[in-house]
Amino acid sequence: MAGGQVYDIFVIGGGINGCGIARDAVGRGYSVVLAEKGDFASGTSSGSTKLIHGGLRYLEHYEFRLVREALMEREILWAMAPHVIWPMRFVLPFQKGGIRPAWLIRLGLFIYDHLGGRKLLPATKTLDLRRDPAGKPLKPLFAKAFEYSDGWVDDARMVVLNARDAANRGAQIFNRTEVVSARREAGLWTVETRDVDTGEQQTFQARMLVNAAGPWVDKVLAGVVGRNDVKNVRLVQGSHIVVRKKFSDPRAYFFQNPDNRIIFAIPYEQDFTLIGTTDRDFTGDPRDVAISEQETEYLCNAASEYFAEPVRREDIVWTYSGVRPLFDDGASKAQEATRDYVLKVDGGEGTAPLLNVFGGKLTTYRRLAEHALEKISEAIGAKGKPWTAGSYLPGGNFSAQGAAAQADALQNTYSFISRGHAERLVRCYGTRAADILGKAGSIADLGQHFGGTLYEAEVRFLIDHEWAHTAQDILWRRTKQGLHLGTEAVAALEHYLEGIAGSRVKAAS
Ligand SMILES: Cc1cc2nc3c(=O)[nH]c(=O)nc-3n(C[C@H](O)[C@H](O)[C@H](O)COP(=O)(O)OP(=O)(O)OC[C@H]3O[C@@H](n4cnc5c(N)ncnc54)[C@H](O)[C@@H]3O)c2cc1C
Repeated sequence: MAGGQVYDIFVIGGGINGCGIARDAVGRGYSVVLAEKGDFASGTSSGSTKLIHGGLRYLEHYEFRLVREALMEREILWAMAPHVIWPMRFVLPFQKGGIRPAWLIRLGLFIYDHLGGRKLLPATKTLDLRRDPAGKPLKPLFAKAFEYSDGWVDDARMVVLNARDAANRGAQIFNRTEVVSARREAGLWTVETRDVDTGEQQTFQARMLVNAAGPWVDKVLAGVVGRNDVKNVRLVQGSHIVVRKKFSDPRAYFFQNPDNRIIFAIPYEQDFTLIGTTDRDFTGDPRDVAISEQETEYLCNAASEYFAEPVRREDIVWTYSGVRPLFDDGASKAQEATRDYVLKVDGGEGTAPLLNVFGGKLTTYRRLAEHALEKISEAIGAKGKPWTAGSYLPGGNFSAQGAAAQADALQNTYSFISRGHAERLVRCYGTRAADILGKAGSIADLGQHFGGTLYEAEVRFLIDHEWAHTAQDILWRRTKQGLHLGTEAVAALEHYLEGIAGSRVKAAS
């Protein structure tokens, strides 16, 4: 038994929802443990389109509650994490006789602008694409567009920053630790975990269990908690392709497709364009999700309907896919299933309560956590009040519009780093970027260079402060430097990490 302590809450799953709930709960004074079987955000939370958005198209499905809550969250989250979240303008081109009439789109955007929460984000405007630079990469048949506001987020970093903050506040946070069983015993939960590297088992006791296993939520109910009546989520796959920069404008595009779906083309990681997503029902283990031939073709074709220069398969430098765990509301088509979340508590008088989290979006994770805390308070007694609005995530303690000034300041102190390097460090770590560069007086002081702008000093920081273990963790979740490293460079990083793991084993023995 882990120290004989009875924790208030045990959270299964280190995606955005599990980490968000753990952070909120520990900040209110609950004792919290969280176990993630892989890396933080290795499930759905790194496979998203990375938008902090109200969800313009959900208005067509009358999801007003969700859209309003998400719109209100945009500026709250931006203020909380101005390093990993920033505003973005979206250009929605339209043509006469197109999929939706202009008046309908205008009405949707009017509602979007006024439904709630917009203070700093600029309002919608109309563009003449024959004059505006946004028209340049598009086919000339698109003469008009609407331009509206939403936000961008580095999804995987937002997750690890929630985990980091929860740990800073006293939560026990474990990655590479799978929950293998959870059973009710004498009014408490007995939870057994297994370290995925060493196989070591641990037992915890907690007053309440939170199942935030995302697309595995039903699997956890069946396999871990031992229930057999489980069919709560509909798994819907979404894939993205990344191509070399298709346009230099900082604005993103919102393209409508003849099948009534939409895709985005978004400026990505300075040199690239991100295009997605698809929507199709998924079966199997979400860990194995990968883009299909049809999805690749669909995304290339859909974007090529708009861009003057077509998007070809050969242009693709990276793809990724995620599985949405949507609450099963019986919708017939994948894109019509509700995007709203549902929280259900199970367990009556005298039985230890279980909270299941179904669905949810990155954008609404903070509010989802607040609603989860309402349920937790009812079940095991209230502790603190809601506190996360107005708080900041680690490194986010600067003004919402201050990222460029942060990069200037970093370059003033460390004149040997390039502008691109400074901007990337600020976008990943905010005010903590200086902790990585430390006392370095030259680029050589940052240690081994692995490629791109990745140096040993950053790798060390990620191992010491952000639970990074593997090259994948570092190259595709804590950073996106994987886009810049070839196979030899990845092998060099793996070799370096093996050396560190080896020295840890030696130090421990
Ligand atoms: C294609 C796509 C695009 C999207 N785009 C957006 C967007 O632009 N904006 C937006 O707001 N939202 C978006 N979303 C939605 C958003 O990404 C998800 O709703 C959110 O990431 C779900 O987070 P989660 O924590 O519930 O699940 P996950 O991130 O999947 O976390 C669950 C975790 O539980 C762990 N786990 C499972 N079983 C166990 C066990 N037995 N023991 C320990 N750990 C376990 C898993 O390893 C996993 O890491 C998108 C989703 C997809 C798929």
